[in-house]
Amino acid sequence: MAKLTILCQLNGGCMGCCGHDFVSKGKIKEAVLRNTKEFKEINSEDKKELLQFRNRARENDLRFGVCRNLIELDGVLFCPLHPALNQEDLREGHCDVDHLCKTALEFAKWNKAEQKRFLLFVKSKKLDNLDYSLMMDNNLLLEEFD
Ligand code: SF4
Repeated sequence: MAKLTILCQLNGGCMGCCGHDFVSKGKIKEAVLRNTKEFKEINSEDKKELLQFRNRARENDLRFGVCRNLIELDGVLFCPLHPALNQEDLREGHCDVDHLCKTALEFAKWNKAEQKRFLLFVKSKKLDNLDYSLMMDNNLLLEEFD
């Protein structure tokens, strides 16, 4: 995950760029569950503890292809290091913060009406957050949209 676009928060959150070589949906769920359990053991209001959480694994030390910082609370996938939740970007060194997926890059070029049509198209698919993420990551939603 990197630069922010409305697509990152859609459909329960997108984790398509929070890892690579994903093994399976089941393994992604397991990785997120374990990350979330570890996250709940820290005081996330304390920046030092948040950084300790981040630094418990190296950037390329993924769990079943999933970044160890990705968590899920109340059914929403997100990164607790993201600048939208902190006064600064705590992902530095652990994330390609300038990355935007192909779908987000295309979406940014469309006019408001086209963007709205895409959002409605995504809604009509009734995907869970993982299928949504995987279909953003492999460009399937973009390819199916016409
Ligand atoms: S650091 Fe956060 S935004 Fe970056 S890949 Fe990991 S979970 Fe995603």
